[in-house]
Amino acid sequence: MHTILGTIRQKVETSRRLSADEGLLLYRPEVDLHAVGELADMVRRRKSGDAVYYNINTHLNPTNVCIYRCELCAYSCDVGDPRAYLMSDREILDRGAEAVENGSTELHIVGGIHPEKDFDWYLGIIGRLHKAFPRLLLKAWTAVEIARLAELSGRSIRAVLEELIDAGLTSLPGGGAEIFHPDVRRRICSRKIDADHWLEVHRTAHRLGLRSTATMLYGHVEDPKHRIDHMLRLRELQDETGGFLAFIPLAFHPENTRFSHLRRPSGLDDLRTMAVGRLMLDNFDHMKAYWISLGVGTAQVALAYGADDLDGTVRHELIHHEAGAQSPEALSVDRLRGLITEAGRRPIERDTLYRPVRRNGNEWEVEE
Ligand code: SF4
Repeated sequence: MHTILGTIRQKVETSRRLSADEGLLLYRPEVDLHAVGELADMVRRRKSGDAVYYNINTHLNPTNVCIYRCELCAYSCDVGDPRAYLMSDREILDRGAEAVENGSTELHIVGGIHPEKDFDWYLGIIGRLHKAFPRLLLKAWTAVEIARLAELSGRSIRAVLEELIDAGLTSLPGGGAEIFHPDVRRRICSRKIDADHWLEVHRTAHRLGLRSTATMLYGHVEDPKHRIDHMLRLRELQDETGGFLAFIPLAFHPENTRFSHLRRPSGLDDLRTMAVGRLMLDNFDHMKAYWISLGVGTAQVALAYGADDLDGTVRHELIHHEAGAQSPEALSVDRLRGLITEAGRRPIERDTLYRPVRRNGNEWEVEE
């Protein structure tokens, strides 16, 4: 085992790409987690030095009604369910105003696929928010939503994205990727678009000049080979387009889902997955420790296992909290910066596109 890890170490030290088999080996429990973390930290340091990024952002989930009702989802419901909600145009604009007032540079917008809402509704949300708050960067609609809008409107994915860009869209979030392998997808999100569709939406977005992120939801019915397969598919697309800004491993929270009998992945699994992701995705610049999903403590420790980003202050997150995430509803900038400096690193506020932000209270500008 030492010899094989030695070979991997040599490859990492000389910036050579790891194979699928090597990725699988890094997941074996007998391979020392801290040795894997140390290798990931070497790559992280090479890419980001002592910088750890965070942003000031606000979430907007316009509706929790969704036609797909994925088996993994605790957030969605049907029309008529007592939990169902649909935000009005006024409420959506109020959220934008709140984001600006709290100094956010980004509004993160995702939600369900509402059966009574058409392309114009999704387009209108972007258009109205951009018109009212032109400096707020709108990171909106997962690949699942974009694909559905193409289907609904009879437009191509490219045409849908072009109209959204014209309306003010800045980038795409990385949700909906879950685990790409069809054997897993069949069990956790049987009605959602498949991997090829998800990747095609991001490929098209990248070709249009949009940047995006990529997620992986782990810790349910998949095993390490599915996780490595997922990472390799992302690595392949990143080789082609270079459009992904960051990889975001998301720990599955089973509460209120059809998998409520499962346990949430362990902290050790969280750290190993962060480290393996950092090592396999050699063409990704950033690895995000999303504290909402990992918990604040584990996210902080993950900064020593390959992560260089803590995501943001995050106000109004619903999706992971509905599934039992125990993390706070939001973190203050002081707390985020404190978590980073306690870890011996240098906090840097960034915008969606990882441009450093210079700030004076709620006034900000980006360094190009
Ligand atoms: S995970 Fe997304 S697509 Fe699936 S049911 Fe939930 S909101 Fe809908």
